[in-house]
Amino acid sequence: MYKNILYPVDLEHTAEAEKALKIAIDEARRSKAKLVVMTVATGFGMPIVASFFDDSTVKNALKEVARHLKQFVDENIPDDIETNAIVVEGNPAELILKQARKNDIDLIVIASHNSQIENLLLGSCAAKVVRHAQCIVTVVK
Ligand code: ADP
Repeated sequence: MYKNILYPVDLEHTAEAEKALKIAIDEARRSKAKLVVMTVATGFGMPIVASFFDDSTVKNALKEVARHLKQFVDENIPDDIETNAIVVEGNPAELILKQARKNDIDLIVIASHNSQIENLLLGSCAAKVVRHAQCIVTVVK
């Protein structure tokens, strides 16, 4: 049984993570756990590029991402699941791991890939999460 389940989702690749979502929902229901749905905005990644955006531009962009995440949650997570939606900006794997530590997460459910090209065993974000997480990670192929 789990208390807090983390489901990271890239909003540009929700179809690839659909199976993982179903498993996260089933497990949250079975465990009566809270489901933390998080997305990491990566658009401002390179500091030299980011320096051209003022604070309000970044804030507005993150607000827009939050609006999309809320819509995703409303459309995909049943009402009986206690859900917390989180948007952060930066490196996906690092922030997923940070969130897991901060929110007392005991299970991360993550899709193995975003892309269809499966020549690697795991995608780059999924691989880092599996390698460094301190809790149980379910990887969904
Ligand atoms: P690939 O390297 O094939 O693109 P990834 O490892 O990036 O695959 O993606 C696998 C999973 O990692 C995604 O389905 C999602 O769960 C998580 N992930 C990747 N990028 C993000 C992101 N920006 N925000 C939240 N989760 C992400």
